[in-house]
This record gives sequence, structure tokens and C-alpha cells, in this order.
Amino acid sequence: MKKPMTLSPCRVCGGGHFTHHDVLWGDLIAQWDLSSSEAQYINVQQGTTCVGCGSNVRSIALADAFLRYHHSTLSLREWVHTPVARTLQTLEINEAGTLSGVLENIPGHRLVHYPEYDMMALNLESNSFDIVLHSDTFEHVSDPVKGLTECRRVLRKGGACVFTVPIIIGRLTKERQGLSASYHGHPACVDESMRVYTEFGADVWCFALSAGFVECRLVSYCYPAGLALIAVA
Ligand SMILES: [Zn+2]
Repeated sequence: MKKPMTLSPCRVCGGGHFTHHDVLWGDLIAQWDLSSSEAQYINVQQGTTCVGCGSNVRSIALADAFLRYHHSTLSLREWVHTPVARTLQTLEINEAGTLSGVLENIPGHRLVHYPEYDMMALNLESNSFDIVLHSDTFEHVSDPVKGLTECRRVLRKGGACVFTVPIIIGRLTKERQGLSASYHGHPACVDESMRVYTEFGADVWCFALSAGFVECRLVSYCYPAGLALIAVA
């Protein structure tokens, strides 16, 4: 299904053409208690993709925040070949969608995986990275503040954790503890790493500041579907 979309050029590749297909299913919409407008923007976040590079709005928002942090108007594909990119130590936790294949062009880039790599106890040295990136991972971590505290620990002072989580903007964050299990991933092929522990809302920034970050910026590529956060250590 195609939907007409007015989006700024893709921040990953610079392309300007997008396609859309809905990705949410009935059970998840019911468990998440989404209104039709909320379901619509989450569908855009996850299911509207750039024809040029295949990035969805979520990945493009993450690239946009990353590039804004570096005050760059280049696309991510261009930026990774700049001199400043060669000086950075970057950590990606889980493949950040389609960004992974672009980020690996940064010489100091490292990719680790959750849950093999425990996000709440990272086996990594303190103060060793300039940037930590992750995309739609924290809703699956049982203690997101603990996970973000670990991200801050491995960052150098002034470094940034740039990330996305699905945010329902018109409500506050809800823990799913005590509720029926909800998973992101098709019912036929879910595993425990896809279990949702936290449904983030408008107070998402509190998690970053609770984890000891000194600044938290919310960046909008496409409001409210494409939001990303920059937490500065
Ligand atoms: Zn693109």
C-alpha cells in the first residue's frame, strides 16, 4: 500500500522518494492501547521507507539526530567519510536498522548486540566512546535507567548517546510489569528479546537525566512519527 508522504530528504542517503506499508497488527495495537492516530504515526515511523536506501522513518530520525549533534547538513553516507568521522570512537548496540552498513565506514566503529551484550552491564571500558547509538532497544530492557547509565559510563565527558524508542507523545511512560506480555515482532517468530518492558511517553527525557546525563535533546525529523533523542554525558 502506498501513502502520499511529505517528508524532508532522507538523512541517510539524501533521497526524496518514500513508500509506505502498515506494520502494526491488531493484537499489538490493543495491548499498547493505541488510538487510530497513534497507530498511524507508529506505522509511519516503522513502515515508511526511503526508496533510495531502504531506511525507515525511525532510522532516518536517528541519522538526523546524529548529524545535528555534529552540526552537519551532509547525509550520513557522506558524513562517514569526513575527517571528523575518522577521529571518533562510536559504539552501536544492536544494528540500528539500515544505519549499520553506513556506520561501519567509521574506522573507530564497534557493533555489539543485546541481549548477548547485556545493556545493563556492558563489558566495555568506561570513558571509551564519543558516541553510543541504539534504535528501539530500550523498550526491551527491563531497567532502562540502568541501561542508559551504562551508556553514559562508557561515554567520554561531552559525548552523546543518540537513540530512538517508540514514543507515544500524548501520554506518560507506562511499565508493562503485571500486564500481559507484549512483543514487537510477528506473533509467529517472537523471542524474549522482543518483549516490551516499557511503553515510552512524553516523559522519556526523564530516563536520560535519571541516568546522569546532563542534557537531553529531542530531535524531530518528522513529528510525531520520527523523533530521536540526544543525551549528552
Ligand atoms: Zn535514504
